[in-house]
Amino acid sequence: MNNWDLIVVGAGAVGSAALRAATEAGARVLGIEQFAPAHTRGSSHGHSRIFRHAYFEQPDYVPLLRHSTARFESLQRESGATLLNRCGMLVAGPDGSATVRDTLASAQQWGLPLDSLDARALCARFPLFSFGDDAIGAFEADAGIVRPEATVHASVRIALDRGAELRTTTRVRRVVEDATGISVESEQGRERASALIIASGAWTPQLVPELTPLLEVTRQVQAWIAPTDGIDASSMPCWLFDRGPGQPAIYGLAPDPAAPASADGSPSPSRHPKVAFHGSNVVVDPDLGVAPVAPADVDRLLEGYRCVAPGLAGSPVAAATCLYTMSPDGHFLVGTRRGLRRTHFAAGLSGHGFKLAPALGDALVDLALHGRTDLPIGFLSPARFTYAAP
Ligand SMILES: Cc1cc2nc3c(=O)[nH]c(=O)nc-3n(C[C@H](O)[C@H](O)[C@H](O)COP(=O)(O)OP(=O)(O)OC[C@H]3O[C@@H](n4cnc5c(N)ncnc54)[C@H](O)[C@@H]3O)c2cc1C
Repeated sequence: MNNWDLIVVGAGAVGSAALRAATEAGARVLGIEQFAPAHTRGSSHGHSRIFRHAYFEQPDYVPLLRHSTARFESLQRESGATLLNRCGMLVAGPDGSATVRDTLASAQQWGLPLDSLDARALCARFPLFSFGDDAIGAFEADAGIVRPEATVHASVRIALDRGAELRTTTRVRRVVEDATGISVESEQGRERASALIIASGAWTPQLVPELTPLLEVTRQVQAWIAPTDGIDASSMPCWLFDRGPGQPAIYGLAPDPAAPASADGSPSPSRHPKVAFHGSNVVVDPDLGVAPVAPADVDRLLEGYRCVAPGLAGSPVAAATCLYTMSPDGHFLVGTRRGLRRTHFAAGLSGHGFKLAPALGDALVDLALHGRTDLPIGFLSPARFTYAAP
């Protein structure tokens, strides 16, 4: 049994970022992943994720978003992999849309470049989309797409090159913190470490049971849809449309013409635009598996897509399920386990965590190695909720 400086459970978006950060800091780190990096049963697959900085969800994320984008850029440089595509991001909605209003407000608060657009300007600039007469919108040119699988692989590769160890197809069963360190029991035996990061996504309640009442895992569907004949989608941005109260927002990602082929050699579906609803009420248990995509899932998406981009909503090419782990308020739960000192976690990323994973990885490694972080994560503390100690 080794005595590691740090063990990281999970090598998904946050765990892989933490592995990279820990090795940068010179720590002796072990990662343990129940499947393999960039597998398709969690929350970090599907070829593309939006990154942006004008943040309607909460302006307090903006410093973390800036930090994360800089870290994606340095990962891109260091690994030589193409991870980012700055195709821009359009947020639109009907007059009075809180999503558009809060996007503009966060940009103003933090001095982010953003174009504020009325219905006429939206129609002129984005002819692929259909806008109501009262539509308003905001366009961030500095936003775009990050490739999730390539990002996870690049972080893991760099961490391994710097001496990290990663055990795959190994599930952590139990973690116990005592006065001198942490014991981590997995299918491959017991390990000791001075600190622990739990980045286990949808499976977090199994290792941090006190968070169970705060987390709900939902099934999401993402579909790649080829435009109708004659429509060229190559210059479209990423986009999100607020469809009004009670309706989940619909959003889409620009095609990625340079997307690498899938593992089986077939062309990546990401050569076509991707579309999804933001949120669902289908609650699932990640260990029981998730119902595969049904024709009705894709029909519902196509119907919503036709309303906002009729020419783009052509024929489905591929579709996949994915998991959101929701917190009660849609904001992350990040911090140190209540009553403990050495066990830190990021959970409940609520369907918007990929773009922030580098900042979360860095903050968790700061907490694990130094007991504090300069990154402003205080607003994400689970202490805003009432829940029991472990
Ligand atoms: C369809 C879809 C679209 C999205 N779009 C966006 C977007 O555009 N922009 C954005 O920012 N975010 C987006 N998100 C959200 C984002 O992808 C997630 O918030 C993020 O990937 C979650 O990362 P994670 O590290 O928490 O979880 P994961 O990446 O799932 O990692 C958790 C890992 O822990 C492992 N694990 C769990 N338990 C154990 C155990 N006991 N032992 C060992 N290993 C374990 C799992 O196997 C998994 O690999 C989207 C999510 C979905 C589903």
